[in-house]
Formats: sequence, C-alpha cells, structure tokens
Amino acid sequence: MSLKLVIAMMMHETNTFSPLPTPIASFGRLGALAGPAAIAEAEGTNTPLGGFLDIVREAGVEFIVPMAASAHPSGLVTDAAYEEMTSAIVDAIAQGCDGVMLALHGAMVTETFDDGEGELLRRLRAVAPEVPIAVALDFHTQMTEAMARGADVITGYRTYPHIDMAETSRRAGRTLLRALAGEVSPKIVWDSRPIMSSTLVHTPSREPMKSLMAMAAAAEDSGAVLNASVFGGFPQADIPHLALSAVVVCDGKTSDGELLLARILDQAWERREGFLFHPEPLADQVARARDLEGGPIILADHGDNTASGGTQDVMSVVEEAMRQGLKDACAGPICDPEAVDAMIAAGVGAEISLDLGGRIDMPAMGLAARPLRVGGRVRRITDGEFVVTGPMATGATIRMGRTAVLDTGDIEIVVSERRSEPFDLGVFTHCGIDPARKRYVIIKSRQHFRAGFEPVARHIVMCDGDGCTASDLALFDYRNIRRPLYPFDPDMTLGRNEAPAPDGPAQET
Ligand SMILES: [Zn+2]
Repeated sequence: MSLKLVIAMMMHETNTFSPLPTPIASFGRLGALAGPAAIAEAEGTNTPLGGFLDIVREAGVEFIVPMAASAHPSGLVTDAAYEEMTSAIVDAIAQGCDGVMLALHGAMVTETFDDGEGELLRRLRAVAPEVPIAVALDFHTQMTEAMARGADVITGYRTYPHIDMAETSRRAGRTLLRALAGEVSPKIVWDSRPIMSSTLVHTPSREPMKSLMAMAAAAEDSGAVLNASVFGGFPQADIPHLALSAVVVCDGKTSDGELLLARILDQAWERREGFLFHPEPLADQVARARDLEGGPIILADHGDNTASGGTQDVMSVVEEAMRQGLKDACAGPICDPEAVDAMIAAGVGAEISLDLGGRIDMPAMGLAARPLRVGGRVRRITDGEFVVTGPMATGATIRMGRTAVLDTGDIEIVVSERRSEPFDLGVFTHCGIDPARKRYVIIKSRQHFRAGFEPVARHIVMCDGDGCTASDLALFDYRNIRRPLYPFDPDMTLGRNEAPAPDGPAQET
C-alpha cells in the first residue's frame, strides 16, 4: 500500500486534586519529542508509540511523527502546553495524509478543557473530516461522546498494570490498516454506567472487572467485532464525565456491538459493590506487615502514587515504618531534589541528618507539607537512569534524575530528583539495592508495582498513606461530578432517565 500516515502521542492522566503543575517541560525529559528523536526513543519498546511503530514498519507504509509527548500524571495541563502539542498534530494532519494513529491517555484535563482528547479529535475532524483516525487509550480513560465522534477506531489497555501498551496500539493500528485497504468499515458504539470504580480494586486481573474485560476480549479475538474495550475511569478527577464505560468498534452494522455493550455494562452495574474500596488505619496495616513471616514484604503506599498524580514525597508510610521499628528495609523512590543536592554535597560515606520529602502543600486535600527528619549515611549516588527489564514498558529508559541512597541503618531510602513510579525492580537495583533480599520493601504505587515486584514478593500489604491519590473517595471534595453517581448515591437505581446523558462537544471548565 502506498500510504502516508501521521502517528502522534499526547498522553497525560490529569489528577485535578494534584498540586503539581503540568507545563510542556513535564512532557518528556527535554519537553516533547518529534521526528527521529521520538522514533528512536520509542522503537522496539512496549509502549503505545512503540506499538504503532511496529505496525507501520511491518506494513511498510510511510509515516511521520510530529509530536510524541507523555508526562507523569499531575495537575491540570497548562493551556500553553496543550496548544503546543495539539497544533503540532493538527498542522501535520492538515498538510494531508491517508490515516492517523494516536496514542492518547483518555483522561487529560487542561486549564480550559475537561476533555483534552475530545477537543483534540474535534480539531482534527475540522481540518480532515474524511481521514480515518485510530486511537489507543489507557484503561483509565474517561470516555466521552466527543472522543467517540472524533475517532474511527478506539482500543484500550486490557491490563492493569499496563503490560499490553504496545499491543493495544497494534490492535488499533491493524483495524485502521484494514479500513484503509477497504476490508472493513469501522463504526464506534459506546456506553457507560455511572460508577466511580476504585483504581485499587478495578484491575482486569481480578473480579469483577476480569469477567467484563474477558467478554470484550473474547468478542474481539473471535472476530465478532473489530475491537472491544472496557474502561475503568480515573476517580482523581473532578469532572462531569466520570464513569465506567465500554467501546466497541463494529464492522458496518452496529447491532451486535450494542448487545455486547449492554451485556458488559449491565453486569458491571449488577456487581458495582465489587468496585468499592474499604479504608483502614495506616498503623494497623504497617503492624500487620511487621508481623508477617519471611520476606520480601511489599508495603505499597497507594495514597501518594506517581502514576496517579502523587507528589511522591509524602513521608507518612516511611514515618510509620520507622515508628514501628521495621528493619532490613528499602524504600523509595522519594522525590526530593533538595535532599539529593544535600546528599551529593555531603558525598558517599558521609553521615548526614536532613529533612526528607514533604515539600509540597496539597490544598485540595487539606494537607500541609510535612518533611520527615532522618539521619543516616549516604551510600550511593547515581544518574538515576536504567532500562526497564520487567514486563511493563519493557525496553523503555527510565530517567529519575540524580539519585542518592540514604541508609538509616534500618532502611535504605532511594531519593531522586524526578518522579518515577516504581513498577520495575530497576528503581532499586540500578543503585545497588536488591529488593528481593530485603525483608520489607516500601514503595509508592497502587497497582503498577505488581508488574516488577509481585514475582519477588512473599507478601503484599496495601498501605493507606496520605496524599492526593488516596483511595478513600471521602477524602476528596468533588464539585463537578454528575449525580447520581455510585457510590456517592448508594441507593440510586438505574432508570432510563437516570442513564448518563451523552456529552456534547468538549466542555469548558
Ligand atoms: Zn492507567
């Protein structure tokens, strides 16, 4: 086929409660990438862009990459960053192409738009109404009518931890190429139920999401529909279109797709109690971890989780572990550039006492910054770079910035300049710590850590640490969500007139 495609990535999961700003500099080490630099970074990796590159290389079609931007989750994307990213994509497509492949997150909120992806697609349709567009989305997508209307093909991750990022793009890319060859005629149908499911319990690896995702996967894999995906949504966003949703890409007629949607979403509604999180006091959780036999025992602090917009510097779980006397432990990474500076200035081998973490107030959570005074020896200083060897984002290079290890005698704490979710053992092994040989491993993650750490873990204890990614929904002051919404309205029934109204074009916030 002699085709010219535009491939682009614009990914951000926005936590509207996070105090961290999201300027263009957050999107990649040097800001956003494009062209050969973007291709070199993603080629051969298990990432959304890597998956699209696989497909176009295999098909031997011509392509350009005008924008590759991905940031850790954080607060609202600035208007300047959004305009820079979207105009690069829109301009490239306006110059003419046969098809578009987009790696988007599906949960971007900007200073102006509460549906960043829907607005991008609306702009693309305005300049290229006939060009087919395939979109690969994260499992934590807040699906909207604007997205459904703006795309011809949509696929979402089937896993959480997200170990099928590249395959999700390949699924979307294959359907797009088949459409361009005239073999199929993709038509999107979608629907949702007003459920705010907890990210701590809604992984497709466990019920009740497991059966829902299995229905979607079976329909797609058998060829009954072109693609089918279920989306858990992302609760740390105060926007109207929070819901559990599903999207089916049909070939021409949509009746089978509509039936599949109803089967998936009716079952989700029936089993909605299974999506709830039940909080517990942190001290009880740490005590339970302390008393378990053997190791490693993973203490996963899901209240301050980078991949959901956490500051990665809240010290409550480390503080409680110290208070209860946990020994033979490693912890981190804690993001604290000032502490890294102090440790590098002191040098390897130096004894040092410093205020660690707790640098950032979280007004939306009513939490004031509170560092933890710790003393210890500086064990190691690194550049914070390593290549992922585990199953999630395999082959990608992680850059945590300058990194130092503080050994308190009981706990080796990894401290980094930049934020990075610990989903791969490399966060510890690259600086000489083997978490598999520790009794306790304290990390900030809710689900992604399972990719790298579950295989070496003897036990896992979830810890309700403080922070803007807390799993207890009662800690968040939602003002813009659409009601009724489960579980805020636990006794609600789902009558015809209570089904969520379809969204119009992207709303201004
Ligand atoms: Zn996700």
